Amino acid sequence: MIVVLSKDISEHDTKLVRAFLEDNGYKAREQTFGDDTLLSASGKGQLDTRELQLLPGVVRVAATSKPYELASRETQAEDSIVTVGPVKVGGARITVIAGPCAVESREQIAETAARVRESGAVILRGGAFKPRTSPYAFQGLGMKGLEYMKEAGEALGMPIVTEVVSPELALQMKDLTDMFQIGARNMQNFELLKRVGSLGRPVLLKRGASATIEEWLLSAEYLLASGARDVILCERGIRTFETFTRNTLDISAIPVVKGLSHLPVIVDPSHALGIRAYVNAASLAAVAVGADGLAVEVHTNPDAAFSDGPQSLYPDQFEKLMRDVEALAPVAGKELQRLPSPKSLAASDGTAFSGAWTAAFSLVGEKVAFSGRSGAFAERALINIFGEETQRLPVPSFSSVFDAVLDGSAAFGVVPVENSLTGSIHENYDLFLRYPDIVIVGELKLRIVHCLMAIEGTTLSEIKTIRSHAQGFAQCRNFLDEHTEWYLETHPTTADAVLSIAKEKSRTIAAIASEAAAKAHGLNILKAGIENNPQNYTRFVVISRKQDGKQLVPAALGAQKPNKASLVFSVADKPGSLLLSLQCLSGEGINMTKLESRPILGQPWNYLFYVDFTIPEDEGLLQKALEDLKKEAVTMQVLGVYRAAV
Ligand code: PEP
Ligand code: MN
Repeated sequence: MIVVLSKDISEHDTKLVRAFLEDNGYKAREQTFGDDTLLSASGKGQLDTRELQLLPGVVRVAATSKPYELASRETQAEDSIVTVGPVKVGGARITVIAGPCAVESREQIAETAARVRESGAVILRGGAFKPRTSPYAFQGLGMKGLEYMKEAGEALGMPIVTEVVSPELALQMKDLTDMFQIGARNMQNFELLKRVGSLGRPVLLKRGASATIEEWLLSAEYLLASGARDVILCERGIRTFETFTRNTLDISAIPVVKGLSHLPVIVDPSHALGIRAYVNAASLAAVAVGADGLAVEVHTNPDAAFSDGPQSLYPDQFEKLMRDVEALAPVAGKELQRLPSPKSLAASDGTAFSGAWTAAFSLVGEKVAFSGRSGAFAERALINIFGEETQRLPVPSFSSVFDAVLDGSAAFGVVPVENSLTGSIHENYDLFLRYPDIVIVGELKLRIVHCLMAIEGTTLSEIKTIRSHAQGFAQCRNFLDEHTEWYLETHPTTADAVLSIAKEKSRTIAAIASEAAAKAHGLNILKAGIENNPQNYTRFVVISRKQDGKQLVPAALGAQKPNKASLVFSVADKPGSLLLSLQCLSGEGINMTKLESRPILGQPWNYLFYVDFTIPEDEGLLQKALEDLKKEAVTMQVLGVYRAAV
């Protein structure tokens, strides 16, 4: 049951409502739903809801239309973000769990953990207690196995997840695991659910092989009602008439469950398919339909595995899978989550790369600046990189982002530098010259989907004016060309355009902006996907300020060694000078990925050259190329050395 409270209800009246519910056999939990504060009441109590309705401060009483209440999206509209040690699951990220089916020995789990961590897995999996179909099959190493796994995870800064098979074992295992897994065979072991739920640890709840979606969500409800706050659902294939694959991956369940529940949903392609060769394809399908992550079995020697060898990936196959997932994630509006590299955890003196690359920087209490307001594309990029909890500092322009980072009011900033349909955002390139102490420390590629939006009830024929940022107009040129009668009015950001319409409430004005901006400011979408081409990506860079010649790198981006650099230089006015400058790079075998010229302000017909290039494995070659270029060019400024987006 859901009790909607008045916005101005006093603390005293809230307490009264709570007490009333509790006296009648319900447990009440306060939650927010959009602008509303709700008490979600669960339990077996019985009361006449009309009595509840009469209490001061109660606006509405609603029994959810679903038998599961705490897990329902009707109770909580926003995605739940589950925290497992340093890792988050849900929201705008793809979280990958990997490891062997079972812990087989201390060496095996340590070696597998190192391999999957290197490829980018952020949580280590492995069974210490194995619920096997045959009583004669390997049953797991038990508590000893769990100790080995904990040790392997700790050595690499990786939280672990392991299956718990009985209520008696749960308490014993609690301190040795970061997340409990409830296996498919135990999804409806209600005593187990209640005990595990009461321990307060995150829980990964697998779907039973013959469980309906509703039964699965009701099992999640057991966990939540018993006290668990962090629950992740895992689709692992269901039993159908098909026997070629081990199970049938119910791909349609993912968007359905994401619609019904706020809990994160991940996919285990290994147990679903049962055949190694299909794990990659199924994983990508899962990401494409909106899964929040994957749980994949990996073994360093699958042929000798004690269990599930045929479905376990070789480490190299897992490495390829991670690359594919990283490339696909932006299409689904997400970002692959990474952890700081084990190296930077160990050596926090900032010497991991050429003395200029500091260790991952913890963001606790720090702000990140972006240009615009709630719902801006830059805000989405910021969230994808830094997570939902990061304090965001909205500022009115790109130059204010640079100012905020320079004066320290923000630790980092996020600005767009290039769009795949319309090219470079020159204003930001020019700002790097005005702010030589600001450097690029990271990069992200965000898919941009534009929508036409207006206040509720507006029809296309009523529109006379369209508001957006100049980039919004340029990226939707083909659509706008079909409506030459519309007057185009440029606003500082797309989100500003949306807000102005929400305030003016005029039915003759529409905006071009993101779906998130429409949601944030209460506008109605008239048409979605109006950009010239769906392959519309904007490259955002993360900027920070150089300190003592070093650059700070946010933890989320510090996972891997930088592989890309951007610089700007000018050349002498003589034949072949550009060629000679570029040969400083090609001479060291360095691959250039972008070259662009820009007029120099105040010097007509003189140009600056902007170059992006791939950093070679051998750092010495980079140093040599930069020294040569410095001698050859008239001026040279390194804009940043960072990890490229895929
Ligand atoms: C496992 O994850 O190793 C496992 C036994 O999975 P499931 O419960 O999905 O069969
Ligand atoms: Mn297994």
